[in-house]
Amino acid sequence: MIQVTNLVKRFDDQEVLHGMDVTVKRGEVLAIIGPSGSGKSTFLRCLNLLELPTMGSIQIDNVILSFQEHKRIADREIRKLRGKTGMVFQSFHLFPHMTAKQNVMEGPIQVKGISTSRAVSLAEHLLIQVGLKDKQDAYPDQLSGGQQQRVAIARALAMEPEVLLLDEPTSALDPELVGEVLATIRQLAKGNQTMLIVTHELSFAREVADRILFIDQGQIVEQGRPQDIFEYPQKDRTKQFLERFN
Ligand code: ATP
Ligand code: MG
Repeated sequence: MIQVTNLVKRFDDQEVLHGMDVTVKRGEVLAIIGPSGSGKSTFLRCLNLLELPTMGSIQIDNVILSFQEHKRIADREIRKLRGKTGMVFQSFHLFPHMTAKQNVMEGPIQVKGISTSRAVSLAEHLLIQVGLKDKQDAYPDQLSGGQQQRVAIARALAMEPEVLLLDEPTSALDPELVGEVLATIRQLAKGNQTMLIVTHELSFAREVADRILFIDQGQIVEQGRPQDIFEYPQKDRTKQFLERFN
């Protein structure tokens, strides 16, 4: 379970998240939608502490951290919370000098200290899961964008994260490659992987998410079941945002 309480993030004197409260149940898929600059990426980056929250608290599973201005958080605590998350970025971020399989093995070996032979079988299993068995020895520059993103998903899963955080995982892809990545995410959702997905693919969000979170200007404007948010949005800001996509 994930519980985010009163999460505030400031960059210098600009406050971009104004106290967000979000609870996510195990196995739940949450799609985060909202206009550009509304704080979606910042919210995800705070969850795995790529950005340090200014205030508030984050609980993932049995790890709880609270933040206050000028309070230092020990690296050990940061690693503990980060270890509960896996992040997938818009632009893949694979290690260019490693094969697909080596990319997936790297975290479990370096961070979790598992043996090479176990890491190999884990990586092979995950690459099958994302449909890339035959590409395990290819380097990133020999793979299409969609294939690279699926390796990135396998790499994040290799750390057995409590929650997978995906920040616009398809927006850097050519349109014909979007489908294969969405299919992989869809499959993970069916497999009960807890996920927070920031996406502009509204029809996909509607189909795959258990709950939609609409964020605007650093605040949750509205959240609820996909059919409620898309068919009966309650707030004017939500209506205006959704109208642009119709
Ligand atoms: P998009 O849909 O375009 O990706 P977003 O909802 O992900 O937008 P964020 O990237 O979270 O938006 O940005 C929210 C606000 O925080 C923006 O005003 C942005 O300029 C600001 N911001 C983000 N990162 C930083 C940073 N490192 N330093 C200063 N300001 C930042
Ligand atoms: Mg963003």
